[in-house]
Amino acid sequence: MVLDDLGSSLRGTLDKLRGKSRLSEEDIEEIVKEIQRSLLSADVDVSLVMELSDNIKERALEEEPPAGTPARDFVLRIVYEELVDLIGESTDLPLEEQTILLAGLQGSGKTTSAAKMAWWFSTKGLRPAVIQTDTFRPGAYDQAKEMCERAEVDFYGNPDNDDPVEIARNGLEETGEADVHIVDTAGRHALEDDLIDEIEQIEETVDPDKSLLVLDAAIGQGAKDQAQQFDESIGIDGVVITKLDGTAKGGGALTAVDQTDSSIAFLGTGEEVQDVERFEPDGFISRLLG
Ligand code: GDP
Repeated sequence: MVLDDLGSSLRGTLDKLRGKSRLSEEDIEEIVKEIQRSLLSADVDVSLVMELSDNIKERALEEEPPAGTPARDFVLRIVYEELVDLIGESTDLPLEEQTILLAGLQGSGKTTSAAKMAWWFSTKGLRPAVIQTDTFRPGAYDQAKEMCERAEVDFYGNPDNDDPVEIARNGLEETGEADVHIVDTAGRHALEDDLIDEIEQIEETVDPDKSLLVLDAAIGQGAKDQAQQFDESIGIDGVVITKLDGTAKGGGALTAVDQTDSSIAFLGTGEEVQDVERFEPDGFISRLLG
């Protein structure tokens, strides 16, 4: 359990429990209030925060700390377990042949994430290829191509074709030597019907093993509608949170994880192709509470 990177006020509250072997109801109330404050300022959905605090409260009051366990460690363990329960382990991505489809709104970081993920798979000894089907955003083709060159991974796109479904189909054929196909799609500023129609058709054509929703860490409460719509249309298996190098803590993505009953696959931490990490709960939880 790695929660040594906690925010100062939560740490202060927990430190008041030092030396105590039992927790009073007031102690628990104070800790839960502090956790609520941290999570809400990290953009975690209010109802999720409430659910979580109820579970923490109930367990801290009802469960007996194992003999010899200080109250502080006992309550920290409960907080950690409840958060892991909510956030889950990282999305299972076996290192084998697969097709991954990326969905998300324009600017969320899809194209960047496609190249980053391809780079990540290449470091695992696989041969990835990025297929750029975004015919909507000017510059998407060049951006993806350049990033893939920097990542030294295969790339397919066709700036002379304005049919994303055809590009997806041709892309799979043209990059047949690759074993991981990452299909980037167009985003819009909002969830217009044509965006949903288009991605549904691409999904049917490429038949992905995983569809990942790419979300900007600053998404906040807007995550719910997006997650619901994309999940209904193509089924979401995991979430990629981008721009975690900024100030936003990415708590909005938890709403998407909860809504789609999925998990977090990757974290984006910068603009370069190497700025990507596989999600792991410990660091993310510390950050949410920090
Ligand atoms: P798309 O429209 O969803 O394909 O989004 P892009 O991949 O073009 O990303 C939009 C902007 O966000 C670009 O300027 C990217 O450089 C930037 N970006 C993407 N991911 C990250 C990240 O993890 N950190 C930072 N700082 N910027 C990012």
